[in-house]
Amino acid sequence: MGTLFTITLYAPEKAVAQNAAQAAFQRVAALDEIMSDYQADSELMRLCEAPAGQPVRVSAELFDVLIQAQKFSAISDGAFDVTVGPQVRLWRFSRKKKALPTPAQINEAASSVGYKKLRLDANARTVTLLAPHMGLDLGGIAKGYAADQALAILQGRGLARTLVAASGDIAVGDPPPGQRGWRVSIANMDARTNETTRYLLLRNAGISTSGDTEQFTEIDGVRYSHIVNPRTGVGLTNRIQVTIIAPNATTTDALATGVSVLGPDRGLALVDKLPRTAAMIVTKRDGQTRVLTSRRFKSVFTEPVATSKTKP
Ligand code: ADP
Ligand code: MG
Repeated sequence: MGTLFTITLYAPEKAVAQNAAQAAFQRVAALDEIMSDYQADSELMRLCEAPAGQPVRVSAELFDVLIQAQKFSAISDGAFDVTVGPQVRLWRFSRKKKALPTPAQINEAASSVGYKKLRLDANARTVTLLAPHMGLDLGGIAKGYAADQALAILQGRGLARTLVAASGDIAVGDPPPGQRGWRVSIANMDARTNETTRYLLLRNAGISTSGDTEQFTEIDGVRYSHIVNPRTGVGLTNRIQVTIIAPNATTTDALATGVSVLGPDRGLALVDKLPRTAAMIVTKRDGQTRVLTSRRFKSVFTEPVATSKTKP
């Protein structure tokens, strides 16, 4: 998944901790084998090679993550969409060349994108790609999913006081002994210095941040994100950092990406409709930074937000 996973846990003894962590890391490695778009022979890549219209039987894990992805596509009106692969590929190419794709290229990619072109059959556990040249990209959900799975492995071994982090996607179980939650901080939008502006105390939850702090490209003076808007086929240009808190990291990973595409107004409206879900959105326009929070931000999972002592 192109990222570092870290596990923090409390265990009665060191050997227990090490064995459990090893099992959890193995789970992550197994999921990476399935979902990677770097390994040409991953299950995901092989699925994408199947001819259009042909059902392919897949592993329970791949089916599960696709079922969840489709749910987030439906509720975000297609803003989150794992069929975005052809657009992401085109966009990566454009970023390298530092030139926008042509309208013809954009149209061509768009004809192979759309979550309604992905059919899942739960009885047969098959996946059918309905249009030619489709490509699935789990980059917006796989890390959160893997963090949840790693957490579940540890919980299954009785180690509930656990945190699993995959860079911006974190799953937490019960809090450390004597604490009310895991202390998680949200980095500042322009943080080149790791200074943080907010701390949250989380337990049995997921948290993800998507933003343009690390991955962006400038073309003709416009800053583009690595998150693609499936409606336009190019990277987002609105400067937005989205943090989502929800019961698990699969949800927060997908929603952080989807809400980035929807933007603050539609994004917060969506978050407020979902149970036990909260968001903090930071936008930047004309040098002005705005911080918006969803209705439940101060109450769901979190202790009141404490401002850090570092400068705002
Ligand atoms: P990060 O990888 O920085 O944690 P995200 O979780 O937001 O950020 O995922 C971004 C990745 O998701 C992109 O690199 C791409 O692989 C994929 N992606 C891009 N746009 C979309 C989209 N609209 N819906 C779903 N996945 C997307
Ligand atoms: Mg994401």
